[in-house]
Amino acid sequence: MPITSELELTTAKSTFTNSGVRGQNEEGLLNNSMKITIAVFVILPLVAVIAAVPLAIFLGGFFTWVDVGLILLFWVITAGGITLGYHRYFTHGAFKAPRAVKIGLAIAGSMAIQGSLDQWVADHRKHHQFSDEVGDPHSPWRYGTSKRAVAKGLYYAHVGWLFDEAQTPIEQYAPDIAADEDLRRISRFFPGILAASILLPALLGGLITWSWLGALAGLFWGGLIRIALVHHVTWSINSICHVFGTRPFKSRDLSSNVSWLAILSFGESWHNLHHADPTLARHGVLKGQMDMSARVIRMMESMKLVTDVRWPKPQRIASKLKDPAMRRRVRGYIAPSTSI
Ligand SMILES: [Zn+2]
Ligand SMILES: [Zn+2]
Repeated sequence: MPITSELELTTAKSTFTNSGVRGQNEEGLLNNSMKITIAVFVILPLVAVIAAVPLAIFLGGFFTWVDVGLILLFWVITAGGITLGYHRYFTHGAFKAPRAVKIGLAIAGSMAIQGSLDQWVADHRKHHQFSDEVGDPHSPWRYGTSKRAVAKGLYYAHVGWLFDEAQTPIEQYAPDIAADEDLRRISRFFPGILAASILLPALLGGLITWSWLGALAGLFWGGLIRIALVHHVTWSINSICHVFGTRPFKSRDLSSNVSWLAILSFGESWHNLHHADPTLARHGVLKGQMDMSARVIRMMESMKLVTDVRWPKPQRIASKLKDPAMRRRVRGYIAPSTSI
């Protein structure tokens, strides 16, 4: 049950305040140096966003088509690494992948700088387990339902929760990731991947333009600006997609579908369906719902790069809709014949 009644709210707030969203007995604490690192990687890309327009206007040659290409290239790699890799594959097992693809997806996701794979998976699985209840690492409803409380909750769900001292225990929520030698190594090597995520666009920018300015611009646009974009789109799923939007599917939380985020989030903003049926490879299951991640999975499936894909079954999806009249909007749905 979502936290909606007054009694639940009071209980929830006292539990949130007294023992932390994540029980501190079972979990380790986030240390200060890690908090500072997270702060740097939250604030620095944001500062770059603020500086972007003046720099592009006043510094000649600082924003060129090469930089547009670098933003797009690294955006697709890292956002795809999150949606296909971290989320649909590693967290939910929406398909199976051979070792090389598994490693590729883990590295691409790590390059989004949203934390190491094992911790991301653990946090997200816990989010599904306790969605919008006490125990959810990032529910926007944790402070209550008044406008002020939801505004505070939105900030917390978007970015505030990253600084929560109590960490979701990996051994409890992501033992499969921890047990995989390749993935353990990639999680351990996260600082190196983080550096590569910023330095690779700089290297490419420098080599393509054969100039130091090109390298600096590559670092700025393909590195920092792209990191900010991917960060805030992913975090919007945690904040916006649990408050605004529509809820056509039966789910036990307040997850919602937000159409204007669908393209930017590569289909992740069909979040209400995702909570109603979390292991599906496609989240945009209604006609007209764009889901670029699902398209890429389909393409990879046809190239035999992934197998055992959990595609939605139209009749099952239809049964999860609150309003039966909407069933004809489900892709591939065939209404049962009424004739005898
Ligand atoms: Zn959610
Ligand atoms: Zn999920």
